Amino acid sequence: MAGPAVEATQKALKFFGPSLLAQTYWDAAKKPSGGWLPRLQAAPGPHKDKNKDPHAAGRALDIILFAKNPLEKDYAERIIPLFLRLRQKMRFISVIYNGWEWNGGGVKFPHVDTAHKTHIHIEWGQTGVGLADFASDLEDALYNEFSKGNLASGDYGLA
Ligand SMILES: [Zn+2]
Repeated sequence: MAGPAVEATQKALKFFGPSLLAQTYWDAAKKPSGGWLPRLQAAPGPHKDKNKDPHAAGRALDIILFAKNPLEKDYAERIIPLFLRLRQKMRFISVIYNGWEWNGGGVKFPHVDTAHKTHIHIEWGQTGVGLADFASDLEDALYNEFSKGNLASGDYGLA
């Protein structure tokens, strides 16, 4: 089972993030011949190590937003700054997306791999994952960012 911080972030994104995140997507890699999966994934995949993987431990959330899709990449690039702005309340230890990683202090450094070109990975430590007191702040931030029809970057300031 996922920890309170994971659950709160998942719920905030589902109800106040881009509506796309409440939907499923087609994953061609799902065995044996592809399948529909949720875009907000707290549980580990069957290939993950149950002991070492932070998802198995209930400390991480994957937010499926493909970097090769301009709209999805735009959503990701608007969600990550909200996480960073709330980092002191959210107490995550790591956010990874599309070649970059941010630590709990908001410091950005390269994290180059192919896995994180399909999703944002956000992870908490043992202590932080138990706290979800940031939920309403995250919900407000997501609402303010995405409530106006999920307009793309550059447009939302005009509404
Ligand atoms: Zn992950």
